[in-house]
Amino acid sequence: MPSEALRIAVFPGDGIGPEVIAPAIEILRLLEARLGGFRMVFEEYPAGAAYYRETGKDISDEAFEAARAADAILLGAMGLPDVRLPDGTEIRPHLRMRDEFGLYAGVRPVKAFPNTPRRLIDERAANIDFVILRESTEGLFFSQGRGEVNEQEARETLRITRATTEKLSDFAFKLARRRKARGGKGRATCVDKSNVFRAYAFFRQIFLERAKLHPDVTADCAYVDAMALDLVRKPWEYDVLVMENMFGDILSDLGGGLVGGMGMAPCAEVGDEHALFQPAHGSAPDIAGQGKANPTATLLSAAMMLDWLGDRHGIDRLGEAAALLEAAIERGFAERRLRPMEFGGDQGSREITQQLFGVLEEKLASV
Ligand code: ATP
Repeated sequence: MPSEALRIAVFPGDGIGPEVIAPAIEILRLLEARLGGFRMVFEEYPAGAAYYRETGKDISDEAFEAARAADAILLGAMGLPDVRLPDGTEIRPHLRMRDEFGLYAGVRPVKAFPNTPRRLIDERAANIDFVILRESTEGLFFSQGRGEVNEQEARETLRITRATTEKLSDFAFKLARRRKARGGKGRATCVDKSNVFRAYAFFRQIFLERAKLHPDVTADCAYVDAMALDLVRKPWEYDVLVMENMFGDILSDLGGGLVGGMGMAPCAEVGDEHALFQPAHGSAPDIAGQGKANPTATLLSAAMMLDWLGDRHGIDRLGEAAALLEAAIERGFAERRLRPMEFGGDQGSREITQQLFGVLEEKLASV
């Protein structure tokens, strides 16, 4: 076992953030205790909208630097609609983390688990299993805090760079290759609007250049509006969808809607040196404090964290823990032991966590 414990900086954040982070830490502690082979310390920090309301800062310098120094960052959700910066935008210190820590690859799996609503009548919807790869440091979001607004006009500028698009495209092809090794389709699709904007034509051109370096993966392209149509008509055909920041922001909510709701939508934000794991949803103030939140997205994000840490530190046990957690979630839904209120079930986050403990204990007994 490596002598050093892995340091996880934890930001429960606002709204349902703390309600979905607590189960994730309990489950991670269980896996650590029962599997062995790795150690984790969880260092919790306040940050976000409630913290801003109290202190006038969205995150302390100490907490931000702790996130930088950590082996991984685990985040609940940040932002509340009624707490705004002076320019009217929501408080989201994790967007600064994306920028400063270079978290360019937003990995957002969209996977249909058994017995979850799929909103689609077609039985092939049970096979939905694709990933939205959202560029997370530039695109239209680059303009955050830089927009110009006067009485007559507002301007925001989208930015696409060669360096980031090359890295993102390579990430997409490697992800498709890895998924292919596990039975995936081996396909990467560039989603853009290159028929109208030169910036997206540039994005597509770089994607196609990089595709030549990855001939074992099928590369193709689609316009974002057509993709919105296809994701409702035949989402089971897709594998890895790589796109600009704003398009990824929008289509990942569509993806969540396809597989049961935002409580089923995990996310990893990965850079060369750092990574942040959080559910793709927000702080859900409409259900906060009621114990109703579905923690599945956060648990799946925690599994992605274990996987990423395992790769980075060469610790196989972490990869096994990740696979075990995902398999337990799959079994929990298959056996109808997980029934989130989010889609008509009778379980809030506590009950879901208890059930998952049960499934994990059974699986651990056979490891
Ligand atoms: P953001 O812009 O920060 O991503 P948002 O405004 O898109 O946030 P969310 O907070 O993601 O909104 O919530 C969208 C809807 O999904 C709300 O009705 C919310 O209650 C629901 N929701 C989000 N996450 C969960 C969850 N984990 N469990 C149950 N319902 C959820």
